[in-house]
Amino acid sequence: MRICVYGAASPTIDPEYIKQTEILGEEMAKRGHSLVFGGGANGLMGAAARGVKKGGGSILGVIPKFFENEAIEAIYDECDELLTPDTMRERKQLMEDNADAFIITPGGIGTYEEFFEILTLKQLCRHNKPIAIFNIMGYYDGLNEVMNQAMQKNFIRENCSSLFRITDNLDELLEYIETPVDDTLTVKQLKDG
Ligand code: AMP
Repeated sequence: MRICVYGAASPTIDPEYIKQTEILGEEMAKRGHSLVFGGGANGLMGAAARGVKKGGGSILGVIPKFFENEAIEAIYDECDELLTPDTMRERKQLMEDNADAFIITPGGIGTYEEFFEILTLKQLCRHNKPIAIFNIMGYYDGLNEVMNQAMQKNFIRENCSSLFRITDNLDELLEYIETPVDDTLTVKQLKDG
């Protein structure tokens, strides 16, 4: 499968996040998967790419031209293929189009945005690809609570919890990603309960 991994650009995070994301990348490659990612060399993007490279997998990076032109972020230089769209929106579209599944590792604003967009699109049945959150060291416990509260108060329909999996267990994460999605839910069921 082509798995899109979203994750932090920041390099100044606890090294344990880096280590576990490198292991994720390596394990993905060993299980025959390739990587689609944001093309950054730092943070958890770089970690995922290094792991996949170590495991012998192939890598597609997608990073807007202005990142290089304006020296915003170091680009991972061992991508097998690098796409350089003009805008962040085009980047997200290319990442989505080129992936069969999505894994969200810990991250900041960019990662949250990517997660919510891909989840929104799934809720609206615009795609039906697995989405899994890798909850390294409980980073996403707070997000889980926010989502649960929104469900309890009926802002999010309860059956939307079936649209993604959150786990800190690497095997469970990859097994979920590799399992075809149940596509019996319609937009109406997801929106109306
Ligand atoms: P953040 O979680 O804010 O660190 O943003 C990381 C996510 O957003 C990645 O999955 C990228 O696709 C995108 N992104 C945001 N900032 C950068 C950056 N400086 N370099 C590369 N990608 C970035």
